[in-house]
Amino acid sequence: MNPSGVRVRIAPSPTGEPHVGTAYIALFNYLFAKKHGGTFILRIEDTDATRSTPEFEEKVLDALKWCGLTWAEGPDVGGPCGPYRQSDRKAMYQPYAEELLDKGHAFRCFCTPARLEEMREAQRAAGKPPKYDGLCLTLAAEEVTARVASGEASVVRMKIPTEGSCDFTDGVYGDVSIPWDSVDMQVLIKADGMPTYHMANVIDDHLMGITHVARGEEWLASVPKHILLYRYFDWQQPVFMHLSLMRNADKSKLSKRKNPTSISYYSALGYLPEALMNFLGLFFIQIAEGEEMLTMDQLAEKFDPDNLSKAGAIFDIQKLDWLNGRWIREGLSEEEFFARTLAWAMENDRLKQGLKLSQSRITKFGELPDLAGFLLKSDLGLTPDAFAKVKSSPEELKAIFDDVQPGLEKILEWNVASIEAELRASADRLGKKLKVVVAPLFIAVSGSSRSLPLFDSMAVLGRSVVRQRLKMAAQVVAAMAGSGK
Ligand code: GLU
Repeated sequence: MNPSGVRVRIAPSPTGEPHVGTAYIALFNYLFAKKHGGTFILRIEDTDATRSTPEFEEKVLDALKWCGLTWAEGPDVGGPCGPYRQSDRKAMYQPYAEELLDKGHAFRCFCTPARLEEMREAQRAAGKPPKYDGLCLTLAAEEVTARVASGEASVVRMKIPTEGSCDFTDGVYGDVSIPWDSVDMQVLIKADGMPTYHMANVIDDHLMGITHVARGEEWLASVPKHILLYRYFDWQQPVFMHLSLMRNADKSKLSKRKNPTSISYYSALGYLPEALMNFLGLFFIQIAEGEEMLTMDQLAEKFDPDNLSKAGAIFDIQKLDWLNGRWIREGLSEEEFFARTLAWAMENDRLKQGLKLSQSRITKFGELPDLAGFLLKSDLGLTPDAFAKVKSSPEELKAIFDDVQPGLEKILEWNVASIEAELRASADRLGKKLKVVVAPLFIAVSGSSRSLPLFDSMAVLGRSVVRQRLKMAAQVVAAMAGSGK
């Protein structure tokens, strides 16, 4: 099949909680397809096998569906250019690597990780940017054949022109010129045979007939490598559009350390997808004051991809709150409001799990809000008083939060067992009893020292809400430690 017409895609890597930045780029592509009567595709880019998990893949699909975005082709719905998950396409990339090797556009590199580290170290010491030095570029063909035959591990790297620059026009940045000598001899196929992002991305965009590549500005510097691959294969390159990153109000890159960035956090707190899409969509259109509240169809109508700003999309949470409030008040009928509130409480089985955990702990229903209400709250309003009954000193509490927070980030599958295992590991690292470690966490997560079992509650709340609650508690504790309370 030869796909035609405007074809765009979102290509998430399932390596973490689905990010609002992914929803922002997905929305752009979705609106672009709608505007041009084109096709919007979802492709899973899981070439980083160590960080990609099925849990995150499922979550990214669910999160984008929650946003109200739908794709015509993807791993869940199939389509003419499948499979739509790169790990399922592994065998498809090899012939392309062979083609590049045969044509002399790529070479085998036998450098060990230790040698590469040494090389980078020397470059750093000399104040030069780290870049492959080309040691294997000049190996004789017989030597390469012999080393491959002897089973020595190797990667495939692309050759890069030594002079001139890569000039291209970006849909947002206009004319861009990047000198070739700043471009690294990118690894295309790793030692385990898996392609890297760059290789798989270009081959798949070509095979899937992608006409416009719209993605985050962090990929702008990769365009020369991609353009070179299109040239090496003699394929037509797509139009590139690099959207400015979403930023915190202080203009720094939106990161989970400053603001919650997971889509699931916003859904758990009771933001409406209509409001989130409305908020993100306003970055792509010119609008007069008073006309901000727009449905997806209205966004598509006003969508203006030719007038995008490089300034950065500020994630102004107050504006999102304002829009969300308007959507709740003006966008939903009373019936819809009832139904949506219930659906929100039931999301991820939250209400059911909360009731299950509560049944053996109450004497009358009226105790439920106090006991389990924390599972639905958006803000616990923690103060130092909440920690008054905990035996540990503020400094000890701080040490506990400092260890637990990064430890929980490393959990690949978020569930009761993995949370418990990680908190036990934390207690071991800190040389403390588990109950000493979990006491302040109880308060951080539930706001009270008498509540539902901690590990189960953390599993129900989900990692993005737990992350935010621990962050807020850690701030309270740090202030206590700082003020000597
Ligand atoms: N997998 C890349 C990401 O997660 C996609 C970048 C692109 O769209 O080319 O951002």
